[in-house]
Amino acid sequence: MAMKMAVLASGSSGNSIYLSTDNTAILIDAGLSGKELERRMKSVKLNPEDISAILVTHEHGDHIKGAGVLSRRYNIPIYASAGTWKAARKKLGKIGKGYERTIEESWQLGDFEITSFPIPHDAAEPVGFVVSDGDVNFGLATDIGYIADELYDHLKDLDCILLEANHDIDLLREGSYPGMLKRRIRGNEGHLSNDETAELLPELLKTNEKSSCPVVLLSHLSAENNRPELAYLTVKNSVCSAGFQIGKDLILKCAPRDEASEIYNIETAEIIKGVTDSA
Ligand SMILES: [Zn+2]
Ligand SMILES: [Zn+2]
Repeated sequence: MAMKMAVLASGSSGNSIYLSTDNTAILIDAGLSGKELERRMKSVKLNPEDISAILVTHEHGDHIKGAGVLSRRYNIPIYASAGTWKAARKKLGKIGKGYERTIEESWQLGDFEITSFPIPHDAAEPVGFVVSDGDVNFGLATDIGYIADELYDHLKDLDCILLEANHDIDLLREGSYPGMLKRRIRGNEGHLSNDETAELLPELLKTNEKSSCPVVLLSHLSAENNRPELAYLTVKNSVCSAGFQIGKDLILKCAPRDEASEIYNIETAEIIKGVTDSA
């Protein structure tokens, strides 16, 4: 079995990740319009009809905007925490009977074993996810104010991680956001900065007992307070000065904002093009 992953969108304007095995496909978050998510899936030859679940991290629009539409159009159940359901119900619109599912701490969904864990963020009951197919582990860690020990443990042994690098502290400080919003972003329930992620990643690499060359995608970059080159360089300099080599000890990229990414085979870290052509 091979786990495949594509980032359909990542950033403060919308987030969605597609994960699949030969038998099971899921979305984590659906934070663009249903139409745009369909377009992006089709652009990399993924089929929305294959999706058997939408997992939602929290109720902010950049994570749930298209979830209701896709659920209704393709009869896909949505999985969210009880708190997220309460906060998101109005935004999602009417969800079909039986399609509203409350997540557990861990559960089996087709080929996937899914673990959810709380994250410090200013939403009702936000969570991150680790998804395993028994061979490889994928983890999502975005919309995070700071890295608590318990959270770190969930992110330790991953083969592929979407790790937040939301803002550059100087760009945020000098930027046009109102003071209150700046404080929110910097705060303990806000977002991880490039520097915080640069500090965290070498530790994660040192303590990773599962993968000798994990795929790391810098994610949820702010359009206003960050630049992909800046996020990449800040993190790259940090892992390199800790003695790690890009391409040998890790694959490091920025997750794309405006188009779907290539489809990765997480186990081999290979890029798969036109994955459904042979199906
Ligand atoms: Zn959020
Ligand atoms: Zn977000």
